[in-house]
Amino acid sequence: MAHEHAMPADLTRNQELVLGALNHAPAPLSAYDILDRLRGDGLRAPLQVYRALDKLVERGLAHRLESLNAFVACADAHCHRKGLIAFAICEGCGKVDEFADAVIEERLGGWAAREGFKVERTTMEIRGKCAACLQAA
Ligand SMILES: [Zn+2]
Ligand SMILES: [Zn+2]
Repeated sequence: MAHEHAMPADLTRNQELVLGALNHAPAPLSAYDILDRLRGDGLRAPLQVYRALDKLVERGLAHRLESLNAFVACADAHCHRKGLIAFAICEGCGKVDEFADAVIEERLGGWAAREGFKVERTTMEIRGKCAACLQAA
């Protein structure tokens, strides 16, 4: 999450501001964290932030972490995943690593096919301690 992303050219100003805030954050941000950071830029209503977040999530530019009720910028600037997205959430420093795993996705796909379940999205949230926190302990 620390690296810089190119902004898509067709974002609204609010979407750009919100994505910028997520890109610069070392850890997931709640809608209110985002609002706090962007007050100086003229964003005052929670609804403005929620609308921008909805669009960013819809486009795969940002993801919602259900267990934290917070948002992160997509870690992958070029391939915005539509399938399984997995997040490893460090409970020490709050860092979130996004990754994908084709084997898990295939197995879940197999299960869904057998059950006749139509998957809209799959988000895995793994909690624990990152390597840096383990080393510091
Ligand atoms: Zn992503
Ligand atoms: Zn950590």
